[in-house]
Amino acid sequence: MQNIIWDPQHECMLRDEIGQLQLERLQATLNRAYKNVTCYRTKFNGLGIVPEDITSLSDLAKLPFTTKEDLRLNYPYGMFAVPLREVVRIHSSSGTTGKPTVVGYTKNDLKTWSNLVARFMTAAGVTHDDVVQIAFGYGLFTGAFGLHYGSETIGAAVIPMSGGNTEKQIMIMQDYKSTVLVCTPSYAVTIADRIEKLGIDPKTLSLKVGLFGGEPWSESMRREIESRLSISATDNYGLSEVIGPGVAGECGYKCGMHIFEDAFIPEIIDPETCAVLPPGSVGELVLTTISKEAFPMIRYRTRDITSLDYDVCECGRTMVRMKKTMGRSDDMLIIKGVNVFPSQIEEVLVAIEGCEPHYQLVVDRKGAMDVLEVCIEVTEHIFFDEMKKQRAFLEMVEKKIDSVLGVGVTVKLVEPNSIPRNEGKASRVIDKRRL
Ligand SMILES: [Zn+2]
Repeated sequence: MQNIIWDPQHECMLRDEIGQLQLERLQATLNRAYKNVTCYRTKFNGLGIVPEDITSLSDLAKLPFTTKEDLRLNYPYGMFAVPLREVVRIHSSSGTTGKPTVVGYTKNDLKTWSNLVARFMTAAGVTHDDVVQIAFGYGLFTGAFGLHYGSETIGAAVIPMSGGNTEKQIMIMQDYKSTVLVCTPSYAVTIADRIEKLGIDPKTLSLKVGLFGGEPWSESMRREIESRLSISATDNYGLSEVIGPGVAGECGYKCGMHIFEDAFIPEIIDPETCAVLPPGSVGELVLTTISKEAFPMIRYRTRDITSLDYDVCECGRTMVRMKKTMGRSDDMLIIKGVNVFPSQIEEVLVAIEGCEPHYQLVVDRKGAMDVLEVCIEVTEHIFFDEMKKQRAFLEMVEKKIDSVLGVGVTVKLVEPNSIPRNEGKASRVIDKRRL
């Protein structure tokens, strides 16, 4: 396997060197944040903490969390740690409710960001010989620009295609001989669907690598995309509030995403009690930025559920690996007292031959009982003339989901294309209990 490391000096540091660098950078970040950001100063003062109290990495747990709500309350520029004249880029994250959150970058931040993206693109196998088609929407969202600058840093050729217009995406892919596709995993499935419909053999395309992010996806969805687009599909992770893409990414071994620990300190907490959990535990990822100037984030609650593996990877990178995110702590459905993540259901559906991942979960309450209905679109593979066959199929799917979740569900077939396709983030859950 080709294994090029973009920044071996940092990506392959020894564990105690990482710790030392993290502590130095953390202290510098805390000093700047305390001095320049009222929100942090107020919170620290409230707990009687000053930056000098943090003398080891384990002291991090003494610091207060930062949440999306803090960002909203300080909209638009209240969390910036530098004057606006030093900011050269502003992005914002999609606000589904209320105001979006606004983030800023200094010149140095953009350089840091581009290099972090270059690291995971290189780890995925992208080189200066590649032609990178970016099918993330260009705009306030950080995805497209992050990958764009990362590609240019590597020296690859960028096609800033932006999202949507699937047939044009495919035409450009064919004509410009794109070798790398950048988009959300659900959009990769949409592209695969269209390629199939158009009767194009994916092997005739030049694509070799997919860099997919922006939403959680399962291992079986990876296998599906890899076989249908004939590529190596890789996962990467990031969020606007923390930097955008470039927090973590997979190497060729695809055994978790390396978090760039010289720029971020990860912790895993219990989303209910907020206690820091021991290494290996599944819980909510909390990130502290230690190299950003304009927009430092201290113990930011990502709401993403994952776990961390500190074993050194075969690729030689020493940086901790996070598992694929299993969903979000605020999307975590509690059904009959059981924690359920939509990704677990998706995993089951893709594993069943013929089920494509176009599904929707409907949660409702009948009397005092929670009920979960899984709606799957009928495809050519799951079309039944006989009611008996259909019933047997539905029962089989119900049983499989039940065995994974430990919660009984009802599976229902719905008309093809009746579940809305979202070319950005997939929205798969309707919780009628909250309405
Ligand atoms: Zn690795």
